[in-house]
Amino acid sequence: MSTESAVTNQAAFERAQRVIPGGVNSPVRAFRAVGGTPRFIRRAQGPFLWDVEGRRYIDYIGSWGPMILGHGHPAVLDAVTKAAHDGLSFGAPTEAEAELAEAIIGLVPTVEQVRLVSSGTEAAMSALRLARGATGRPKIIKFEGCYHGHADALLVKAGSGLATFGHPTSAGVPPEVVQHTLVLEYNNVIQLEEAFAQHGRQLACVMIEAIAGNMNFVRASVPFMTRLRELCTEHGALLVFDEVMTGFRVALGGAQAVYAKLIPGFRPDMSVFGKVIGGGMPLAAFGGTRDVMAQLAPLGPVYQAGTLSGNPVATACGLATLREIQKPGFFETLSAKTRRLADGLAAAGRDAGVPLVAECEGGMFGFFFADTLPQHYGAVMATDKERFNRFFHAMLDRGVYLAPALYEAGFVSAAHSDAELDATIAAAHAALKA
Ligand SMILES: *Cc1c(COP(=O)(O)O)cnc(C)c1O
Repeated sequence: MSTESAVTNQAAFERAQRVIPGGVNSPVRAFRAVGGTPRFIRRAQGPFLWDVEGRRYIDYIGSWGPMILGHGHPAVLDAVTKAAHDGLSFGAPTEAEAELAEAIIGLVPTVEQVRLVSSGTEAAMSALRLARGATGRPKIIKFEGCYHGHADALLVKAGSGLATFGHPTSAGVPPEVVQHTLVLEYNNVIQLEEAFAQHGRQLACVMIEAIAGNMNFVRASVPFMTRLRELCTEHGALLVFDEVMTGFRVALGGAQAVYAKLIPGFRPDMSVFGKVIGGGMPLAAFGGTRDVMAQLAPLGPVYQAGTLSGNPVATACGLATLREIQKPGFFETLSAKTRRLADGLAAAGRDAGVPLVAECEGGMFGFFFADTLPQHYGAVMATDKERFNRFFHAMLDRGVYLAPALYEAGFVSAAHSDAELDATIAAAHAALKA
């Protein structure tokens, strides 16, 4: 593998743009938010990425979350290689799928049964259909700034005024398709009360990122989450935790484990997983109580299927990843590393006289150019975007690869050592002063 080839990122980008819309297979990779040329990656190892020009970066994207062990973990590579030799796909059940389901259920006690799919989008879309099928109700609530993949019914932004139905955020989604999707402001208890008062008996579910990573890093407040749980229970709506990003990432038991510690007896009714459970391969899942999951085909009337669902190589990758993160001390160590980074970034801001706040939980972090942590999407978008973009490029120039948009969370892996974290903090000091 030649990292010395004369290919530049710019040349690779131009070539890709001729044959792939925007040159990328997922929009954020194109660097549109921050400007500049996306880095075309050739390989990765541990906490590092190398681009086609042979430049090395400390990676805080980790494939947007899955690479919690870092790149090229030997146990994961062994498991994947062995599974690949045994067959890439069968379209028939395997024991490993049950083993992965058992592992998920073992770590997330609110999940009694789980179904494996291939992407977070598919998992959230299927969970939504199941919630509607199980309750026989049409309407759903989501929150502005939360991302649940790109299924039509979930590509919605808030309407104007309180508790109004939303507008499609994408061309190609007819308004009728989102007419049952109510979009509310995150952490706004008054809007929540009003929405339930008006529509409670028609609500199938509320879907939420409890620690939202698609508007950088915003936690649902404890009073908000407490009231949300009460309202769902009172009105018979299912509370669906989208843990695609937070699952096995902010804690072994995901964001729900964090809230269960803060709110006695707290539990969601359904959960959606992705990212870490695939360990870097296409794998996601949704699960819930046995009663709800029994509504799925072939047992029940809610149809859901997938040619590559539970793919043996992806399943082996996920299993090997989950095995590693259950080792004693894994999350304590990962959390301490992430805290060191967040504290270091905040200190760099103070040192440079730049308003910068940072937050983290487990192996996930966020930072804002603002005086206080935003509590909802509008506040996130009101933080200093120009400064973020300049900081992003100044860090990239110094070999630190942060998420290329201010509304994305960051991820630390077990492979990040103090040396990389300290180099990152030093780069932040230099970048903020420049
Ligand atoms: C990434 C993400 C999704 C979508 O998952 P894909 O695998 O990209 O389809 C859904 N929900 C959340 C919270 C995510 O972060």
